[in-house]
Amino acid sequence: MTQPVSEQHEPGSTGHEHTVPGESASRHPALTPSLKFWMKLAGWLAVLGGLIYVVLIPVVAEFVLSLQGGGADPSERLSVSSAILLRLMELIMSSWFFVLGAAIGSFLNVVVYRTPRGISLTHERSRCPDCLTPIRSSDNIPVVGWLRLGGLCRSCHAPVSARYPLVEMLVGLIFLLLYFSELISGGANLPFRPVNAYRGIVWVIFYTKWDLVMFYAFHCCTISCLLTWGLIAFDKQTLPWRAFLICVAIAMIASFDQFWLLPVPVSVPFAMPAEFPTQYSGITSSLVGLIVGGCTGILVNRVVQVQQTSGHESDEGAGLRIPSLVGSFILCGTVFGWQFVLVCALLTIAVYWCMDLSGRIERTLRSRLTSLTFACVVTIHLVCWRLILWPLHSGQGF
Ligand SMILES: [Zn+2]
Repeated sequence: MTQPVSEQHEPGSTGHEHTVPGESASRHPALTPSLKFWMKLAGWLAVLGGLIYVVLIPVVAEFVLSLQGGGADPSERLSVSSAILLRLMELIMSSWFFVLGAAIGSFLNVVVYRTPRGISLTHERSRCPDCLTPIRSSDNIPVVGWLRLGGLCRSCHAPVSARYPLVEMLVGLIFLLLYFSELISGGANLPFRPVNAYRGIVWVIFYTKWDLVMFYAFHCCTISCLLTWGLIAFDKQTLPWRAFLICVAIAMIASFDQFWLLPVPVSVPFAMPAEFPTQYSGITSSLVGLIVGGCTGILVNRVVQVQQTSGHESDEGAGLRIPSLVGSFILCGTVFGWQFVLVCALLTIAVYWCMDLSGRIERTLRSRLTSLTFACVVTIHLVCWRLILWPLHSGQGF
């Protein structure tokens, strides 16, 4: 991770353009030759892995089966060409979800810089802070644009912080992780909901299961918000109330209108859900989650003592602000329920104390990292949601 975005830059400049303080003076390329070599190697290994997955495995499987005398009923299994086609579609689809996440990550980089400073998101194009040249759209491609230019500005060769491609990569990976664990798995991570019998890309994406797509979109949006707020906290900024209220209001409306998006009712560790989620269970789960999230958020914020400035000089009069950590807890409670937010609070505190014990990370950095840690903990909990509630499941769907 890098330093926060330096504040001496033009308030209007955003996106792929802020350099880390102190780095801009040195003019060293962000990518050393050895790093470039390893990245090229990683790229070629990825291509090789893709070829093995798409071509080699089906061909070898067919060969082994033919040695065993055909195996199961030939009409029951895919021909080699269909197997290759299916695997190719799987690869293309998962890459598409990664690219979607990376593109959203690129947008989040802009949001992280602009919202705390009260700058409009549609204000103007991103510029280099050193030479003020607008960044070309071809150089704004997530991750690739930064790598191709070796982490330098195209016109003045000032270094561009590695934080931007890292955030894009992280969001891409989170979208990919949820694509596998929530979407094409047939909702295998969702508690108290029977896992779809027909899974995989054909049965979930091509014969679209809209409820799973809704779950996926709802959860990806929530985690994107939490990450954005985590990065805002990392920059020692606070959240504008308006942005916070809009997100929580959308989550509340979703819990009322699409109540099945909250599969865990309020009563859960004490009484099992007797029926399918109802409008009542959705709205109570969301409301109680909001209150519990707010209270734990304030408590955890006290424990880690996040020091945040009241904001940039330019946003005087931008109104009331809320600590990012408290906002994140409230949103998490509203979307996932009180049980989820409590588990995540405990894990976040545990990570904070582990960092404390290791003694390697200084206190202020640890506090600034807490909101980001929380966003990562929420992602992990979401992937293992069913597993964590498994003892309460009484065996259904397993
Ligand atoms: Zn420049």
